[in-house]
Amino acid sequence: GEPISATDIGELITRVTNELPHPDDVSRVSARLVAGGWPLADPHAGQPTYPDPDAVAASVARLRTLPPLVFAGECDELREKMAAVGRGEAFLLQGGDCAETFDGVTADNVRNKLRVLLQMSVVLTYAASVPVVKLGRLAGQYAKPRSSDLETRDGVTLPAYRGDAVNGFDFTPESRIPDPGRLLDVYHASAATLNLVRAFVTGGYADLRQVHTWNTDFVKTSAVGQRYEQMAAEIDRALSFMNAIGADPEELRRVDFHSSHEALLLEYEHAMTRTDSRTGAPYNVSGHFVWIGERTRQLDGAHVEYFRHLRNPIGVKLGPTASADDAIALARTLNPDNEPGRLTFITRFGAGRIRDGLPPVLEKVTAEGISVSWVCDPMHGNTFEASNGYKTRRFEDVIAEVQGFFDVHRAVGTWPGGILVEMTGDDVTECIGGGEELTEAGLAHRYESVVDPRLNRVQSLELAYLVAEMLRD
Ligand code: PEP
Ligand code: MN
Repeated sequence: GEPISATDIGELITRVTNELPHPDDVSRVSARLVAGGWPLADPHAGQPTYPDPDAVAASVARLRTLPPLVFAGECDELREKMAAVGRGEAFLLQGGDCAETFDGVTADNVRNKLRVLLQMSVVLTYAASVPVVKLGRLAGQYAKPRSSDLETRDGVTLPAYRGDAVNGFDFTPESRIPDPGRLLDVYHASAATLNLVRAFVTGGYADLRQVHTWNTDFVKTSAVGQRYEQMAAEIDRALSFMNAIGADPEELRRVDFHSSHEALLLEYEHAMTRTDSRTGAPYNVSGHFVWIGERTRQLDGAHVEYFRHLRNPIGVKLGPTASADDAIALARTLNPDNEPGRLTFITRFGAGRIRDGLPPVLEKVTAEGISVSWVCDPMHGNTFEASNGYKTRRFEDVIAEVQGFFDVHRAVGTWPGGILVEMTGDDVTECIGGGEELTEAGLAHRYESVVDPRLNRVQSLELAYLVAEMLRD
């Protein structure tokens, strides 16, 4: 196909987004995207090349007819909560897998993840007395940008795995072919996950009176689990007291919980963009909060062009190559009205660079009067390959980056608004260090992530206590 420019894509996307729903335009966008020529800084991070454009168009057409997964009003509620984060009145806890998998859509897996997020949230709220905005990195986190198009194992080279949304993890030529039928599987997997999450958070599982039952099995016997148990006993006493005086607020019984993912695959995200019947504004209805990744945030790129039109609260990752002027230009393009809660910058500099890299960005953005919430991703700047080949992170680097984030914000006078972590509710061995002192040799024991290493449940809880202390200081 003929290469296309950023302007072409921008124009098409603007038209499609402004005139929803227009399935013909959407499939034209898809056809053009598939034809190649993608204005991305990192070409490997681009969209998959599907062998059969008609099959992509069929998936897109079907997605456009399916019900929304989230509602515009819920996205508005989250935007209000993110505005509180921006004002320094709340703290964001965003967590989940680097990449969800279709096999991972089980009741146990979703419950375990939710359970540790609830535990982390109660630690932050109780130990630091700060309201916590709870945001799952789930129910849609199925597509991955990769640093290389190819993967080589034992002398065999195949296309890289790009997430279950695109191709299969199995290392065979068949499995690695991009399959647009998977876009429909993403929808159904997300729907099943979100349905279960909604049932858990409103149906009694997230009731604060369950604070003890979240602390089960292997966590309970760990040092941090014991510490949690004591805190849960204190909360229990407070709840008994409230009960005795006849106070029974609704807030104890349920939590607000929202979903988020990196909106990477524009065909899927477009197809899931709908006009809100109340306001006529376009919302991405596949997740409450969506973000632009580090590899797709260029100002004239298709992702920025697409996100500009959305009413959802949105995020942009900022890595060590992001300048203050880049951040300012992104804010002016993505949030021209400077609306509080609309835009979050998720910084991921790495433990070694945050103390030098973040201050100039923070100072200049703040001096410009830009309204933005600041969140720390302490994972993606701290990844390395262990001597035995596993992709891993050191728990101490994760903590050091969060500490650097807090220190820089305190020095500049801005609010360290939250954390985005890759974590799981299971007892995996993917990140080294932590209270249980996991070693490189220990990684082989239970390494299950299909992309980036996640904090296990004990490490996640330990992180929550350390962050609570930083919040309190
Ligand atoms: C991620 O969040 O998994 C990711 C790929 O991050 P980044 O875009 O910051 O590299
Ligand atoms: Mn990741």
